[in-house]
Amino acid sequence: MRRLLLEQGRIVEAVEGELTRDGVVDGDQQLHHLPGTLQDLDKWIVWVIRGSYIPQMATELPPSSPLSSSSELDSISSAEDSNERHPMLYYDDGTVVLSAVTQKGSRKYFRVHRSILCSHSPVISDMFAIPPLLAEGSSTRIAEEYDGVAHVQMPDSAEDLISFLTMFYDPLGTAYKRFDPNTPVLVEGALKLAMKYECDALRRRIIENLEADWPQTLAQWDARRAEAVILRSEHSLQLTGKVGGRYLDDRLPEPASAIRIASDYGIPSILPAAFYQLALLSTNADWDAYRANPGKHLRFGARTARWRLLDKRDLMRLVHGQKLLAAYTRAIGTDIFGSRCQRAMKGCTRARNECWKYFQENAPNSMDDPLDILHDCMRLDTLFNELPCSVCTSEITVMAEKKRRELWRSLPAVFNLQ
Ligand SMILES: [Zn+2]
Repeated sequence: MRRLLLEQGRIVEAVEGELTRDGVVDGDQQLHHLPGTLQDLDKWIVWVIRGSYIPQMATELPPSSPLSSSSELDSISSAEDSNERHPMLYYDDGTVVLSAVTQKGSRKYFRVHRSILCSHSPVISDMFAIPPLLAEGSSTRIAEEYDGVAHVQMPDSAEDLISFLTMFYDPLGTAYKRFDPNTPVLVEGALKLAMKYECDALRRRIIENLEADWPQTLAQWDARRAEAVILRSEHSLQLTGKVGGRYLDDRLPEPASAIRIASDYGIPSILPAAFYQLALLSTNADWDAYRANPGKHLRFGARTARWRLLDKRDLMRLVHGQKLLAAYTRAIGTDIFGSRCQRAMKGCTRARNECWKYFQENAPNSMDDPLDILHDCMRLDTLFNELPCSVCTSEITVMAEKKRRELWRSLPAVFNLQ
C-alpha cells in the first residue's frame, strides 16, 4: 500500500498494482499527469509521503509562534507588499520560482537556484528530482510556470520563507549580528523550515549563533557581563543615549524572545542564562512600551524584554526562579558575612556587618542579582576602606567563589527547567 497525494490535495492509499506508467487508479478515476517513469514515480512518492508527514510534524512545532507575528517582521514584509516579487530574493538567473502567502494574505514570489536549495535540503532535493508536471496536451510545457521557470507554491508562510532563503544567500553571515536583540525573531522562520526540510547544517548554525549570545558557562557569563558594563559606560557618555544610532537595549540580547525560540525548538542550552537575565528585569520594562517613548527610559540605558512572548509556563518558571534567587541573596548575609572570625579579631564582626549593610543599602539593583553581589564579595578590597582581617577577607572570597559556581550550576533547577 502506498500513500499518494492527488493533485486536488487529497491523499489516497493505493496498492502496488494500481500504480501505472500513466497514473494511479483511484476508484473509478484515473489520475493523469503523474511524472515520468515508474522510477520517477517512486521518487515522487517519497516526496509525497514525506510531504504528508510534514503537517504532522508541524503540529509539534509551533504553527504560529508569537515570534513570527513580531513587529520586526512586519517591517520586512509589509514595506514590500506592493511588489509581489521579493526585492532581494528574486534573481534574474534563478532556476525556480517559489511562492508563498504573507500573513496579510498576498502572494510573494522568490526566484532562486534549485542547486543551492538542493545542496542544503535532502527533502527539497527529492522534490526536485521529480520531473515537473506537464501542461495538459503538451509534451514540453510545464504545467505550473512563473516568469519562464518552474513555479512551486510553498505551503509555508512568506515570512518564514524569507527568513529561510536569506540564510542561503548570505555568505557573510550578515543575518546574524552578535548580541542583536532581534536575532531570535529574525531566525525563527529559518529554524522552523530548516527542521522541516532537514537542513541539518543550517539548523546547527542557527543554534550555534543563538548559543554564542547566551553564555553556557560562568566564565562566559562574566565575560559578557564585563562587555555589557563597557557598552553601558559608552552609552552613558552620550546625551542621546545612542551609539551608532542605537540604544544600549538595541545592542544586547533580549531574553524573552530567546526563551520563546529555545522552548519551541528544543534549545535548552540557552535557557538558564536567558531566564537569569529576564529575572533581573522589571515587568514594566517592556520592549514595545519603551520603544513607544524611547526618550524616557531607553535613553538612560534601560534594558527590556518582549514580555508578550512568554507563556504561562515561562512566567511560572520565572516566578519560581525569582523567589529562589531572592532567598539566595538573603543567605549571603548569613552564610558569608554572618560567620565569625577564625582569629577572633575584635573588629571583624563589625566590619563584616558593615560590608553587608553597604550592599543592602547601596546596591538595590544588584540585590536581585546574587551572581553580581558574590562577584563583588570576591573583591572587597576594591570596594571598602574598612575591611575585616586578611583571614576573614580571603575566607569571604573563597566562599563567594564557591557559592557563585554552585548557583550557576543550579540555575536549571532554580528556574524549573529540568
Ligand atoms: Zn577576621
